[in-house]
Amino acid sequence: MKKYNFNAGPAILPRIAIENTAKAILDLNGIGMSLLEISHRSKDFQAVIDNAVALMKEVMGIPDNYHVLFLGGGASTQFATIPFNFLKNKAAYLDTGVWAKKALKEAKGFGEVITVASSADKNYSYIPKGFTVPSDADYFHITTNNTIYGTEIREDFSCNIPLIADMSSDMCSRPVDVAKYDMIYGGAQKNIGPAGATFVIIKDEYLQKITDQRHIPTIFDYRTHVKEGSMFNTPPVLPIFTIMETMKWLKELGGLKVMEKMNIEKSDLLYNAIDSSKMFVGTAEKDSRSLMNICFVMKDEYKDKEDAFMEFAKSKGIVGIKGHRSVGGFRASTYNALPKEAVQFLVDTMIEFEKSNA
Ligand SMILES: *Cc1c(COP(=O)(O)O)cnc(C)c1O
Repeated sequence: MKKYNFNAGPAILPRIAIENTAKAILDLNGIGMSLLEISHRSKDFQAVIDNAVALMKEVMGIPDNYHVLFLGGGASTQFATIPFNFLKNKAAYLDTGVWAKKALKEAKGFGEVITVASSADKNYSYIPKGFTVPSDADYFHITTNNTIYGTEIREDFSCNIPLIADMSSDMCSRPVDVAKYDMIYGGAQKNIGPAGATFVIIKDEYLQKITDQRHIPTIFDYRTHVKEGSMFNTPPVLPIFTIMETMKWLKELGGLKVMEKMNIEKSDLLYNAIDSSKMFVGTAEKDSRSLMNICFVMKDEYKDKEDAFMEFAKSKGIVGIKGHRSVGGFRASTYNALPKEAVQFLVDTMIEFEKSNA
């Protein structure tokens, strides 16, 4: 049966990126060896990582004074590495969900942590507005897309202190004005590659702000990875290859402007279906809605039908729409590689279910 993959992460990837990765696993560029069997310091792999970095810079329009790193450890390691390097006295965080809170928690051991604003009062169903960032903090940390709650910050705002963004789940979903950020990071496994690689985009000048008030082990010091070109230790070679292929796909598609247009079309399709439904209702406030993770539940009078819809969707090949336990209901992740036809199929399935159950 054809499957419609709405998984939240690891998640759907461009088919061509998977096929080319499969080929490289069997034989990289006709060298007679697998991508998995060669030294990360060989010229064949060096070409892969160089190309991945160059393509990401091109696709995202990353200015020349920024470095692109591919590391291990996931976004969660960055939660700790960021304050380890940059928290001298005080850091500011925007509390928009589970991941934002996890990032904030890791900073607490390194200095004072200010929660600038929080949407915890309404189960993180909106992005707080009108907050003031303390001008004496070392940095301001935001989570641009809240994977679990389906809310997203879609504008790049200006900040009077260094701005650091976890873009794990909306990386490359829209054009980003990278110059507004001192650092952007995330796990690759939501929107640009397989699990195992962490991307870090860091401004060269920001490296000078790394604290000297504590000992930073070599592996956790950003300067190490910049100096060694992500090769201080063995980088995640396979995920880096797939990221390179995903960047090629994005470039051929026409870049992030085109990607954003497609993502808006897809999410409009599903949000409109939710808003015009008798049974379903969205959980995120309209002006905070994410293009990447669309969360919805059954209205109170139909709550007892949620399991039945889940079964119905499953019987049609729809995968991964169970909502996170902290929101309940359903979450459809509509990442870059998900075709519009899949969203249309989900919408048709919702309408069909509603006809016989509402
Ligand atoms: C999934 C996710 C993370 C955690 O990523 P890991 O790579 O598993 O550590 C962090 N932040 C956001 C926004 C996420 O969606």
